[in-house]
Amino acid sequence: MLLQVLNHLGMEQVFYSLFRGHVLRMLLFLLHGASMNNELDLCTLIQDFGSEEKCRTYLEKLRWPKGVHCPSCGSDKISRITARNQFDCDACRYQFSATAGTIFHDTHLPLWKWFLATYLLCESRKGMSANQLSRMLKTTYKTAWYLSHRIRAAMLETTPEKLGGTVEIDETYIGGKPRKWRDRPEKQVVIGIRQRNGDLRLIHAEDAKSATVREIIKANIGSHVEVIVTDESAIYPWALNKMQKNLHRTINHSKHYAHGDVHTNTVESAFSLLKRGIVGTWHKVSAKHLPAYLDEMCFRFNNRKNPFLFRDTMIKLIDSPNLEYKHLTAKLSDAA
Ligand SMILES: [Zn+2]
Repeated sequence: MLLQVLNHLGMEQVFYSLFRGHVLRMLLFLLHGASMNNELDLCTLIQDFGSEEKCRTYLEKLRWPKGVHCPSCGSDKISRITARNQFDCDACRYQFSATAGTIFHDTHLPLWKWFLATYLLCESRKGMSANQLSRMLKTTYKTAWYLSHRIRAAMLETTPEKLGGTVEIDETYIGGKPRKWRDRPEKQVVIGIRQRNGDLRLIHAEDAKSATVREIIKANIGSHVEVIVTDESAIYPWALNKMQKNLHRTINHSKHYAHGDVHTNTVESAFSLLKRGIVGTWHKVSAKHLPAYLDEMCFRFNNRKNPFLFRDTMIKLIDSPNLEYKHLTAKLSDAA
């Protein structure tokens, strides 16, 4: 049955290319059934969202959990025009579809490709390149690139909570091979802040000066912080406020990596995941798009225990404004 569905949709190649990585999950799925847990696996994805109609019905439920409402007047007196996948508002006669006014509306891409791309970006720990996505979805590189940027933009946490408890702060440098031998490499600074057993923030900083780092710390660490761990870099004593200085512990990396609880190992492990993502997956990330990749990495990392990650990302996609292609491709100097 599953293979019939796959053949019908031309998804079998996609399925087989992903099969290896998912073989264990699939065995669990066959043994225990999809209801075993809430986590979405590839089999369930294909069964539940393997056609336009199924995707459309799901979007409708996510968008109007209490029943379809007219986007124009808010009325719930709606008639369905099944043949055209549309609704007709009985109160104001406005006609609309489940995708009207959302990011999915003007897309020429089938909905199941949106669903599969979202799933892949949620599930790939190190991220997925536009090249790989274009091979899997059988789209052009440009389409896959634009698609992944729009999904990435939807993943952005607009009002993240400030971190507290024990936090580790560290800085790292990304990329920047010189174009000519005499050019200085354009390294990008990334400040990482990780709450132990909690969330991660990766922030693209203009530089690694104390004044810059101070603003980043102010924006990301709350007054409920208990311990702040950094290395012995001279940046931090100047970047912390008076209260934070009293909570500051440092580790001397030339001597040891951890001194009991005093270490920055958890933020460094996030850096190594980021670097493997950039080196192995994205290959080359421009300074302009670096913040978007950092946000994507944080979103996935901070949702690592969320069994409803796919659904939550779909809800964010429905609510997200459309990111225009010309905005993404504009040079930094012209970008708003
Ligand atoms: Zn209406």
